[in-house]
Amino acid sequence: MEAQKSATFRSLSESVGQFNLRDKTFLIPEMNRMGAHLLAGAFRSFGVNALVMETYEGLDLGKEFTSGKECFPCQVTTGDILHFLKKEKERLGGDFNPENYIFFMPEAEGPCRFGMYNKYQRIVLDSFPDLKKVKIGSLTSKNSYALKGMIEKEQARDFRKAAYFSVVIGDILDKLLWRIRPYEKEEGATDDFIERSLSAMADSFEAYGAKKDFDRILDKLEAIVEEGKTLIDPEIPPKPLIGIVGEIYLRTHVHSNQDVIRVLERYGAEVINASIAEWVDYTTYEKVREAKVGLRLNLKQLRFDKVRSYLKQVLSYGGDLLYQRIKLDSAYKRVKPLVDLAGDHRIADLEKTLMKHDLYSFELGTEACLSIAGIMEYMHGGHNGVVNVYPFTCMPSTITTSIMRPIMNREKIPFLDAPYDGTCQPGREAAIRTFMYQANQHFNRNGRKKRH
Ligand code: SF4
Repeated sequence: MEAQKSATFRSLSESVGQFNLRDKTFLIPEMNRMGAHLLAGAFRSFGVNALVMETYEGLDLGKEFTSGKECFPCQVTTGDILHFLKKEKERLGGDFNPENYIFFMPEAEGPCRFGMYNKYQRIVLDSFPDLKKVKIGSLTSKNSYALKGMIEKEQARDFRKAAYFSVVIGDILDKLLWRIRPYEKEEGATDDFIERSLSAMADSFEAYGAKKDFDRILDKLEAIVEEGKTLIDPEIPPKPLIGIVGEIYLRTHVHSNQDVIRVLERYGAEVINASIAEWVDYTTYEKVREAKVGLRLNLKQLRFDKVRSYLKQVLSYGGDLLYQRIKLDSAYKRVKPLVDLAGDHRIADLEKTLMKHDLYSFELGTEACLSIAGIMEYMHGGHNGVVNVYPFTCMPSTITTSIMRPIMNREKIPFLDAPYDGTCQPGREAAIRTFMYQANQHFNRNGRKKRH
């Protein structure tokens, strides 16, 4: 019994972590479709055989190997990896070698159980004798997703830059989709166009990512935006603008959220979702903020060895944050003159918004920081309604609603909570229709925000 326990703990430390990806197949779960495929392209440009796994096809397996107490993204991603490996075993038969695969499952610190998914999934994989040797590659928000050990040391910094850029470009492709689809001349044309564009951009990352030739990637993006614009029917008048906030997986994984953006569009909305880059920037911003706190405390206590170490962290993470901002701005600067896409929030501005209205604190952390401040930005930016999308029982999203619903009621801005757990709720569509009716009324009374 003791031996079994210690083998389990050993597996959690030895088979979950940062492993060299060379000569392995790196399995990326599809959360946000754009970002996952562009990230895989960036990995491939550095010689890593990265592929994005089919998603949601293994939900039955995910449910079978979870207890029901986990949050929904855990069930979906557990199903994704089990389904992939099952198919791979069928495909390869006796040639299947579990040591060839590393499954990518990042984690976040804080109260979110997301930090435990990869440990839980380790236990699940270990329960299959032939899957014990599939490793789980994990990055953590604790060090702002540093890649130590996964990519050769001399390439790690360049890869981080290419990976961040893939996140930004993925966000822009998504924004392009949401900008065009509600106004498309021909039904279905935007979806086809975006799928083609995604594949072209992934190829572009594969070709130019490692060379850091981001200008070539932006040239391709510019051509895509130009083509996309031609799909818009200029005769269709602006529609009510709806902002989405919430938990990152649920709000970006279209299968899990039952394609909520498309449903909102069907009832007359134009939608904008919070971006993925915002979350990455937030984790870096948090590291800078924490290092500044440590620096101040240790300065007061005259502990100079610690002061030096915190100062180094402030400069290092501060440099990362500045670099991210410059790359993000450079991408938006290229596309915004071509099409009126929504920009991204600066995390420092979101923190200021929270402090100004005394609603919540970055000291408390979690995605509630972004969601609460994001709703305030939507509200002041002239959006006609806000939807909070999250896994059923998600704590940060529940906090968001408890703080923001009374304010939204007071301001008479439609607000909808949309928790998901994989079941089809009979009232969901009616709730969205009612919400859109209210958003239309708000739009008719107040007009809507001009995109910036
Ligand atoms: S429910 Fe929300 S807070 Fe809890 S683990 Fe899932 S995503 Fe994290």
